[in-house]
Amino acid sequence: MLKTDILIVGSGISGLFFAMKTAKKRPDLSIVIMTKETAQNTNTQLAQGGIAVVTDVVKDSFEQHIRDTLQSGDGLCEREIVEMVVKQAPERLKELVEIGTSFDQNEKGEWNLGLEGGHSQHRILHHKDSSGLEIEKKLLKIIRGFPNIKLLENHMVIDLCTETKNDKPICTGAFFYNKKHNTIKYIRTRTIVLCTGGCGQLFAHTTNPKIATGDGIALAARAGATIVDMQYIQFHPTALASGGKNPMFLISEAVRGYGAHIVNEEGKRFLFKYDARAELATRDVVSNAINKELQSSSKKHVFLDCRHLDKNSFYQQFPVITSHCNELGIKPEKDLIPIVPAAHYQCGGIKVDKNGVTAIQNLYAIGECARTGLHGKNRLASNSLLEALVFAHQASENVGRTIARFTFTSTILIPKFPKIHYPNDYNAFDILKKELQQLMTNFYTSEHRNFDLASEEIKKLNSHAISFTERHEITIPFIEFSNMLTAALLIIMQCKLETKEMCES
Ligand SMILES: Cc1cc2nc3c(=O)[nH]c(=O)nc-3n(C[C@H](O)[C@H](O)[C@H](O)COP(=O)(O)OP(=O)(O)OC[C@H]3O[C@@H](n4cnc5c(N)ncnc54)[C@H](O)[C@@H]3O)c2cc1C
Repeated sequence: MLKTDILIVGSGISGLFFAMKTAKKRPDLSIVIMTKETAQNTNTQLAQGGIAVVTDVVKDSFEQHIRDTLQSGDGLCEREIVEMVVKQAPERLKELVEIGTSFDQNEKGEWNLGLEGGHSQHRILHHKDSSGLEIEKKLLKIIRGFPNIKLLENHMVIDLCTETKNDKPICTGAFFYNKKHNTIKYIRTRTIVLCTGGCGQLFAHTTNPKIATGDGIALAARAGATIVDMQYIQFHPTALASGGKNPMFLISEAVRGYGAHIVNEEGKRFLFKYDARAELATRDVVSNAINKELQSSSKKHVFLDCRHLDKNSFYQQFPVITSHCNELGIKPEKDLIPIVPAAHYQCGGIKVDKNGVTAIQNLYAIGECARTGLHGKNRLASNSLLEALVFAHQASENVGRTIARFTFTSTILIPKFPKIHYPNDYNAFDILKKELQQLMTNFYTSEHRNFDLASEEIKKLNSHAISFTERHEITIPFIEFSNMLTAALLIIMQCKLETKEMCES
């Protein structure tokens, strides 16, 4: 049986930063990172805009960043958490820079700070328009150098194991699927840290990669953790509308911060009708405004207009976006870029305290899968990489105590798994996934949501999925699809609860 002190599930910014900090401080602890695809296949590597940190103490202040975050979260952020994250940001940034992460500077050697929607100041540090990739690569390089960290790619965690002590659940291990060997195995561990990212793949239009199927939410829910605020899925207003791609390519918020306009079919700006901040309003406001415009015009997309911006500096600032557009035959200096809102970020998730501790002993959750209290109803742009760093730090500071409380004394009965069946029913699950994505898109974007009908449809999809597996007992696509159904049902139920509470108040 495999054994480790700490099992980290996920190799994005939160998992890697936690691993780095913990491995450095506690070389005596063994750390295993499991990730269901290749290590770099994460939301993190796709982040373009950057990371929000107050570095210009003359023009900017912690108080302003706190105020912007609270305003974006629309009354649902926890002020104590917002303060902790904003005030810790410079220290966490320093740690990233110390491992060689590079952020753009001007000719005077000052940070070249970007502006994004909802921010009252330029405060976004970025590495051109591939900030996440820069962070992911530097963290992966460091991680591979630690003798006490083992990084296991193509290892999908499929369930958490809990035992009960004094009527309370304690997490003691996990079952995982090794894609190369086609086997399911068990790993015994003193602590598990879920860093599994979001659930954008539940929707037909999303910027999230294929790995974002809400696994962490489903694993934690099955183990008995508390899941909250799943009704707050953030739609990013400027995903590139081109040929039904999944995931959709994102045109960063920073492009609007740089001066791009959103226009309709007639080339007219329309956001002022909805909010005086226009292109610089928060994402929820801009996405809703675009959706309303699309409904009233029956068009499929609106446009981002960059034609008035200086071509050379635009290309320098956004090389990845420019070359992606060029590949599709779109030249930002003379063409309008077609855009639609797309599911982008899960604001809710596994409820944790300020140290990333869940309701289950020995189980932490950090990064996008966690609901920390920072984002409220709507995440402020570039606050999520920051949140991942701060909560990875907090959890790393706290984990020593958790580990000290736990020893591998109790015995466990490990069930025998049948032979895994993988490839043949893969297409069948692809079709079911598409049905789920359409169902969730229709449900989430509808002004008159039918909660009961949506729940019934989810149950039907579940029955279909089970019927595919009857011959084979267990299949990996089934497990991933079941996770998606669990996350979808949580979104529907929590939307329903919120509507009921609003009606009653
Ligand atoms: C296109 C795009 C642009 C963005 N731009 C920005 C930005 O500019 N600034 C910002 O702050 N935020 C941005 N975000 C959001 C931000 O990138 C994410 O919130 C953040 O990277 C999440 O990091 P994470 O560590 O929580 O998870 P991720 O980076 O998503 O990593 C999740 C990991 O979990 C693994 N995993 C999942 N399930 C399992 C399982 N069952 N078993 C094993 N492994 C599993 C995955 O394989 C992956 O390794 C952007 C997001 C996208 C999609």
